[in-house]
Parts: sequence; C-alpha cells; structure tokens
Amino acid sequence: MREGLERAYGELVSASGDDPGRDGLRITPERAAEAFAFLTSGYRFDAAAELADAVFPSESEEMVAVKDIELYSLCEHHLLPFFGHAHVAYVPDATIVGFSKIARIVDSFAHRLQVQERLTAQIAGTLMETLNARGVGVVVEARHLCVAMRGVRKQNPVMRTSRMLGTFRTDSATRAEFLDLIR
Ligand code: ZN
Repeated sequence: MREGLERAYGELVSASGDDPGRDGLRITPERAAEAFAFLTSGYRFDAAAELADAVFPSESEEMVAVKDIELYSLCEHHLLPFFGHAHVAYVPDATIVGFSKIARIVDSFAHRLQVQERLTAQIAGTLMETLNARGVGVVVEARHLCVAMRGVRKQNPVMRTSRMLGTFRTDSATRAEFLDLIR
C-alpha cells in the first residue's frame, strides 16, 4: 500500500509541473505517503474488538455527553481536509464506555475518505450497536477546505450534520437536553 501511495505522489508532483528531483521535493512522496496512510488508517479499525475490553456495566440511565471532540477527515470528492468537532452523547442501557474510546471511534471513521453525513451516521450507528444504548446523538460541525480554498469568493461556512437514534429520535426532551448541552 505504501509503495503504491509513494508512486502516486511522485506522479502527482510531476503532473503538477514541478521537478520531483529537486531538493525540497525529493523525499516528498515518501513523507506524503506516510501521512496519507495515517489519514486513512480507519479502514483497518475493528470497532467491536476495540470496544470489547472498554465497556463497563452501569446502572445509570442518565445521558453521557462528550463535547468538542477534535476531528480531522478527508472529503472523498476532492481528497482535501475537512475538520472541526464532534459532539457525542448516549443514554446507556446497562453498559457505558470510557471517554477515550468514544474519541477513538470518531477518529477511526474520520480517518477514511468521507462525506460528513456518512461520518456522522457511522459514529452514531457504531456506538448504538456496540453499547446497545437506549439512544445516541451525534452532531458534527466542520469546515471543508474544498469549499474554502477553491471558491473565487473566500467563504468558509461551518457545515453541521446530525444523527439521532433511539430515544434521541423518539423523545424530544432527550434531544433538547443534548442540543442544550453542546450549545
Ligand atoms: Zn470536497
């Protein structure tokens, strides 16, 4: 995989019109391939296995919310970054999970070629399934460099997507509590 990326980056440099042999660019394909492999490492992530030893029994039925989880991803249309924050909450049903694992799940789906809507849905769906939660709510707010860098008029709006499952979908009070917590 790394070799294929290095070759592709070498061709990208040439096709851009620059000299791949000049000093500043000579090991760029190698460095870029390493970076890109990291940014797409989520394909090699197994959520169920990752969470298996981090799920704990709990009698609480109160909402657990994690705000402002940093997120960096790549848009699948332009291979340019989009970045921002994920806000994640769930209402447990007998099991809870450590905070760091929620951040891991966000990373594992962000580190792929993505669209923001699917990323949001995958985070929510995975938590709902692995925790067997009563409900899950996920809101992602991100800026897309493919919008900011390519436009003639400079503009950089924040795109907001959400996914509500279980009680977050059926119970407006739960949903309101979540949206209030992340405001
Ligand atoms: Zn894009």
